[in-house]
Amino acid sequence: MGVDASWISETVTSMGAAFSLKVRRKLHSVQSPYQKLDVYETEHWGNLMVLDDAFMLTSLENFLYHEMMAHPALFTHPAPKRVVIIGGGDCGTLREVLRHPGVESVVQIDIDEEVTRAAERFFPELCESNGDARATLAFDDGIRWMREAPDGSVDIIIVDSTDPVGPGEGLFGPAFIADCHRVLAPQGILVGQSESPFYHMETLKNYHRAMVAAGFTDRRSLLFPQPVYPGGSITCTLASKGLPLDVFREDDAGRKPFPTRYYNAEVHRGALAMPEFIKDALSVL
Ligand code: SAM
Repeated sequence: MGVDASWISETVTSMGAAFSLKVRRKLHSVQSPYQKLDVYETEHWGNLMVLDDAFMLTSLENFLYHEMMAHPALFTHPAPKRVVIIGGGDCGTLREVLRHPGVESVVQIDIDEEVTRAAERFFPELCESNGDARATLAFDDGIRWMREAPDGSVDIIIVDSTDPVGPGEGLFGPAFIADCHRVLAPQGILVGQSESPFYHMETLKNYHRAMVAAGFTDRRSLLFPQPVYPGGSITCTLASKGLPLDVFREDDAGRKPFPTRYYNAEVHRGALAMPEFIKDALSVL
């Protein structure tokens, strides 16, 4: 990552590409046992969180990601009550999940408590629901947590992780995905951050392969804009245990009892339409 007097960049060497933001100053920096965490104040995007030189989120645009990591899965499940978030330490996805009045419990397991402590200081708006009586924040390896979780005990698993390197690598692997399948109740849904199809198509295909191997009955990758990620867009991939994923509670989504800034029923319907290059790539897993 390059940092000159006033710009910070995330580079994707394999694609000869970079994304840069103009920054005013560095607000925080800590080397945790798992990763390097930096927070910057930017000129136009609010605060920026960076983990091991990868842009995670900014104050300005994180709503796109957190809403799409939560609402498509929650409005697809007939009655989601028990939710688990693996990763998600900035707490933005947790906030979105807790907007659903029918959700009875959300357990969030992030390996690195430093991320949540930094979010509390520099992204307090993402942490506004952390005190909700339905929420439990745990700090552990999500891979171990899922391995030890009881069969059929969860309705929705959201894997809101870093890239498949370092502590996040195993979250994209077949053993973890198979554990997610076992832990989900019938009609359960797994949704994971599944990278950019422009930069990481093989990662996306391997993710689908692991879901097929685990026994999931339907899979859908939803593409949506993510300005601060290299490539400018990203996917979340849903996998279901018995439910068709092209059907969702469209009326409920249309009448959602809470505000969003990106997600709505039309966006959900549109995101289910997979572009040809993704369909082609996934047709030959
Ligand atoms: N890509 C997301 C975004 O744009 O908002 C960032 C989500 S969050 C910051 C990613 C989290 O995954 C980090 O907090 C990291 O600590 C966590 N993580 C990585 N590997 C993990 C593991 N094995 N178990 C639990 N959490 C993990």
